[in-house]
Amino acid sequence: MTLGAERRLGDQIARELYRDPDYLDDPVLQEYVEGIWQQLIQAARQRGELTPDQDERFAWQVLLGKDRQVNAFALPGGYMGVYLGLIAIVANRDELASVLGHELSHITQRHISRMMSKDSQQTPLLVAALILAALAASKSPDAASALVVGGQALTVQNQLKFSRDMEREADRVGYGVMTQAGFDGQGFVTMFDKLQQASRLNDNGAYPYLRSHPLTTERIADMQARQELRPGSKLAVPTTLEHALIMARARAISADNIELQRQRQAEPDGAAFRQQPPVRQAQALYGAALASMQLRDWQKARDAVNRLQPLVQSSPEALRLQRLLVAELDLATGKPATAAALPMGAGVRRPELLLGTQGRLALGGVDQAEQTAEALQTWVTVHPHDGTAWQWLSRAWGAAGKPLRGLRAEAEAQVAHFDYSGAMDRFKAAQDMVRRGGSAAADHVEASIIDARTREVASLLREQAAQR
Ligand SMILES: [Zn+2]
Repeated sequence: MTLGAERRLGDQIARELYRDPDYLDDPVLQEYVEGIWQQLIQAARQRGELTPDQDERFAWQVLLGKDRQVNAFALPGGYMGVYLGLIAIVANRDELASVLGHELSHITQRHISRMMSKDSQQTPLLVAALILAALAASKSPDAASALVVGGQALTVQNQLKFSRDMEREADRVGYGVMTQAGFDGQGFVTMFDKLQQASRLNDNGAYPYLRSHPLTTERIADMQARQELRPGSKLAVPTTLEHALIMARARAISADNIELQRQRQAEPDGAAFRQQPPVRQAQALYGAALASMQLRDWQKARDAVNRLQPLVQSSPEALRLQRLLVAELDLATGKPATAAALPMGAGVRRPELLLGTQGRLALGGVDQAEQTAEALQTWVTVHPHDGTAWQWLSRAWGAAGKPLRGLRAEAEAQVAHFDYSGAMDRFKAAQDMVRRGGSAAADHVEASIIDARTREVASLLREQAAQR
């Protein structure tokens, strides 16, 4: 399978994942995971594991899923899926980097295409359906693992398992990449310990990662031997304040029932809370604030955020997360000024940009909307695949009284998630708007961009159809 073919397959799978109600673009969690992912990619480049060809052709994109289960999976074409359940249990960045580094190595070592070409009879569409079915099956372990696709009965779990040799290679290469990236190799060992404990509890249902990555004594021994060669390597890496809050965020957002949210909300009121170290207290308060927001218990959320404030002063990263949380809470309670005051100039970070956009649009005003649109426009020029940013840009242009630009941004949001027919609908609506005349017709630059993009996307749509 060529890199190009694998990428097209990956795009097809990503397109379905973007549509899945479980897909989540939480800017704070996305930025955190992507930060680690990019560090690993950089290290893989330096080590020559990631070839310039792969670098150029693959997507290198992380997609988050709201699921509470512990799982992460490499997908064809350089995509990487991560469930919030994994983020919720890793005690530090190094543990998360060990899993992502292992998965990244499945991609760079071309394990996916090697696995696929075992059965060259399968069409890309069938393979895409197979992978999506395997993902769905991993979410509900009781679901039948045999699935009928295109008239063929396929045993999903067995088809998508990497071989033992591939797993060994992903461990070895992943360890090299993550330590080169500056992460502590001890994260690999403690992550294995964590997975081993989970498998001893025989509760693999919550850990689909264990089913696709069975822990053999050989894998564990290999890793311990590798780590023992490093001086001063025995100490477990502590949980930083920032990481503790990220774990709490993943837990709160993935909590899918009210009972769990109530438990999180009540945690800082329990007797055990006072005995906890400050990092754990901060974690409980951040989680309680988010749980209270989901329960729409605004007073409780406010209390938790206020109690959190003195605990995060020692860490600029944790303080930033607390401030973003205050802006979120204020926005939810009809006080958009806090979010609106977030920076949006050069060097802006994505969570500030997107939350700030919501604040400024909620405040209203055409000039404000226009400035916001300009900031977002600059962002999408650098990040054209950021569908969420395109979506907000569409609203910002609408609020600034430029509906033609709004329509085009909405079309681009669909393109970013590979929904070319959805994009064509919007491009055609935009062309109609120009034909009707008025102010839209006067925007000549935008009108000609729309014509050019309509032709490009029409050809992408034909290509997509031809693959079926
Ligand atoms: Zn693996």
